[in-house]
Amino acid sequence: MLKPWDAKSAMQNADKTPVGEPATSKAAAKITGAVTGTVSAQVASMVAMAEQDCLAQQWAELRRDIDQALARVDAGSVGYCNICGDRITEGHLAAHPGTSFCAACAG
Ligand SMILES: [Zn+2]
Repeated sequence: MLKPWDAKSAMQNADKTPVGEPATSKAAAKITGAVTGTVSAQVASMVAMAEQDCLAQQWAELRRDIDQALARVDAGSVGYCNICGDRITEGHLAAHPGTSFCAACAG
């Protein structure tokens, strides 16, 4: 694959192609390949950064949920709804272990 800086030399070499050769189409193919490769690398890099940002955000949210759950354990309020104060059913806790709301309030 051509590197981005090879596109200029590909254009310069296009003029040196013998008569009868489809110089412009060969040069264009080389340039297109270089540009496509560069864009693909940039897109791949952007996707990787977005995935890292997404994972970092998910970890931050998980960390926040754990901290809040530990605070509820310390306060002795585990299993009670933060909104209405009713006991959260075991079924709802089993389905949503980190919840701080009863099924009705979580609605
Ligand atoms: Zn509730």
